[in-house]
Amino acid sequence: MIYPIVKYGHEVLEKQTKPVVDFDGNLEKLVADMFETMYAANGVGLAAPQVGISLHLCVIDTTTGEDPKTKLVLANPVIVSMEGEVVQEEGCLSLPDFRVKTARPERVTVRAQDAHGKEFTMSGEGLLARAFCHETDHLNGKLFIQHIGRLKRESIKRKVRKMMKAGEW
Ligand SMILES: [Zn+2]
Repeated sequence: MIYPIVKYGHEVLEKQTKPVVDFDGNLEKLVADMFETMYAANGVGLAAPQVGISLHLCVIDTTTGEDPKTKLVLANPVIVSMEGEVVQEEGCLSLPDFRVKTARPERVTVRAQDAHGKEFTMSGEGLLARAFCHETDHLNGKLFIQHIGRLKRESIKRKVRKMMKAGEW
């Protein structure tokens, strides 16, 4: 099932999420639906709050579905270390059409559980490191625009408000 993606302005995106405790069939279904939703939107990552579910869960695939081996499920992820810095354009499915140069660590190690509850630790660089940060931010109620300059952020907020008024958001 493809979920509608929740856009910026919805309170679920700015809330701390609840931990995943039940690694059952419902979670499996949700994970499958999140991948389907992410691929349909051509995204490389999707967090549960973006489908309206306030749960500490995200999916990532930096190949956008080209290579099934790169599919990642992160339940209860925590960033345990980061190194370096890269500034690159970043976007978010909840803020469609806004892409802004955003500084992120170059290398990130994350600890999480997979869809069956098994704990793992994984390191990533470049786009994967960026995705780890972007998605774990979502689970803590944060959006990427909190990492950009205030003026740029205010300009995006203004444009969104305008679109909301016009019924285009
Ligand atoms: Zn996002």
